[in-house]
Amino acid sequence: MANLIVLLDDNTANRIAAGEVVERPASAVKELVENSIDAGATQVIVRFDEGGKRHIEVSDDGLGMGAEDAVLSLQRHATSKMRTADDLFAIRTLGFRGEALPSIASVSHLTLATKSADEPAGTRVIVHGGEIERVEETGGRDGTTVVVEDLFYNTPARLKFLKSTPTEFARAVDAVGHLAIAHPHVAFRVWHGQQEVLATPGNGDPIGALTAVWGRDVARKLVPVRFDSPGLAVSGFICTPDLTRPGRSHELFFVNGRPIRNRLLGHALEEACRAMTPEARYPIGALFVAISPDLVDVNVHPTKAEVKFTRDGEVHHAAYQAVKDCLAERGITPTISGEAAAPSRTPTWQRSTTPSLPTAEFRALSRAAFEAFPPLQDYRASDLSDQSDRSDQSDQSDPSDPFQTAPAKPYSEQLRGFRVLGQARDTYIVAATDEGVAFVDQHTAHERVLYEWLTVKRAEMGALAQRLTTPFHLSLGASEAALLGQRLSDFVAAGWDIETFGKDAFLVRSVPSFVSRRDPESLLRDMIDELVHQSVARRLLVQRDHVTITNACKMAVKSGDPLNLPEMEGLLQQLADTENPYVCPHGRPIVVTIPFNEIDRRFKRA
Ligand code: ADP
Ligand code: MG
Repeated sequence: MANLIVLLDDNTANRIAAGEVVERPASAVKELVENSIDAGATQVIVRFDEGGKRHIEVSDDGLGMGAEDAVLSLQRHATSKMRTADDLFAIRTLGFRGEALPSIASVSHLTLATKSADEPAGTRVIVHGGEIERVEETGGRDGTTVVVEDLFYNTPARLKFLKSTPTEFARAVDAVGHLAIAHPHVAFRVWHGQQEVLATPGNGDPIGALTAVWGRDVARKLVPVRFDSPGLAVSGFICTPDLTRPGRSHELFFVNGRPIRNRLLGHALEEACRAMTPEARYPIGALFVAISPDLVDVNVHPTKAEVKFTRDGEVHHAAYQAVKDCLAERGITPTISGEAAAPSRTPTWQRSTTPSLPTAEFRALSRAAFEAFPPLQDYRASDLSDQSDRSDQSDQSDPSDPFQTAPAKPYSEQLRGFRVLGQARDTYIVAATDEGVAFVDQHTAHERVLYEWLTVKRAEMGALAQRLTTPFHLSLGASEAALLGQRLSDFVAAGWDIETFGKDAFLVRSVPSFVSRRDPESLLRDMIDELVHQSVARRLLVQRDHVTITNACKMAVKSGDPLNLPEMEGLLQQLADTENPYVCPHGRPIVVTIPFNEIDRRFKRA
């Protein structure tokens, strides 16, 4: 392999933000993992012992290094990632200073083993306290493994500064987790001793990485955000506002793949969510800023944990707008006229109670839905573009930002205040509210209700199954059968009693009580079909949930199902009882409200 690493000249080296690179195990592991990502790794395995204080090991399947580069890489200001100071404004890698390996090596026992694909043998370099002790040829596979033992063994002052093993461990795992979220194409596995503590799928899906790092409960409430402007795009995910955190642990920001701390972006996120976030709580979100490298200075902080934007205002605006647009589009808008909301910003979005038992209306509703035998229809996302255009305009014409002035009323309470006016196109429930006229998508609303039913209620009361007088057989295609086989327990949990019955065949003995009046066989086939052919967009959702979501969707009333008044009222009450009445399990909005000030404006009553 050609030598890639060069020593930076003094002028360039002097322009590099100076300071301590390695403060604790987390900073060492961060630097090592960054090197793996820069080396094009698709898999990175990290092992710690004692929170990284005793042992840190990072292995990757990246480019590796030739023998000369392996030795050079341990010298200060030796890097393959830039050449001259001018390059500082065109940095596309996570590293660029050539400082991490020598800094870590100077305060530990470090072994670097590396092999590039085009060389027959690999190289191992053994370093103690910065002194190279041995360079030897090794076998081994392509890629690089760095082992760091006894960090700070020769700097007792810094060793004393380290926190307890669990604290250092948590920071180290977080450091890897944040890089894993920023790089979903890379599969990460993290071990602490014998225990695997993190594994990301590495399939490019950011939700997969977020699920691994934040867990399913958070991940299933994430909704995508996005805002584009020339040279700058903000994308990412935020949690619906019913889930918040007591601190800023779940406010993550990334600039061109680099996890950073940034007050500006934090402010943008918190401001956009402000009216919906309870006092002393913080939103959950991961925002990815993609910006032309010449508009951001990454060389302002010794551990590269901060950046400086050339145009702060634009970045703030883009992040704020990305989040705000998302909330508005999904009907998560406390579009509140001042007097509508009691001045309580108390806890609000967090429901502590579980949904109540289904009301008679709800049962009637479910039954009605299946008596109608509506033809299966594709989802028809309500056409929001017109409406959102208008609300944009009204935002501009209204100098006071409703998000800042109006305290939020718990959304479920708002829902209970809805007065149903009727049904439009057998699709939308139209209701008068304190704030304006609301349109409720009956399908997404019912889907949300059923989804929570299937997840929450089934845990409390068991599945609501109903035995069939005559069981039916299903004979499926191989992939369908394989899939149903894998997911059988999820179906069972939803109220289906399905057992295998020979090759690719199944026997169905009970069905969820919701489907009583509908042809359960065709329903089940539709569901299986959808699970097999699920679109990529649907995969956004956590896999295990998918069966439940599909159940909820297929059993929900469809657009085109006529509903009577008690049915509509019943559905809204049920919706108010859900934990997350903002979006359907597929992430589509449930309620769109046209605020009175908008209606007034149209009637020239302003
Ligand atoms: P920097 O990342 O800022 O260049 P480092 O001290 O972290 O500085 O690494 C020095 C050099 O060693 C890198 O520029 C890269 O060429 C090489 N290197 C370090 N780690 C790896 C790795 N895991 N795989 C391949 N090359 C690596
Ligand atoms: Mg580096």
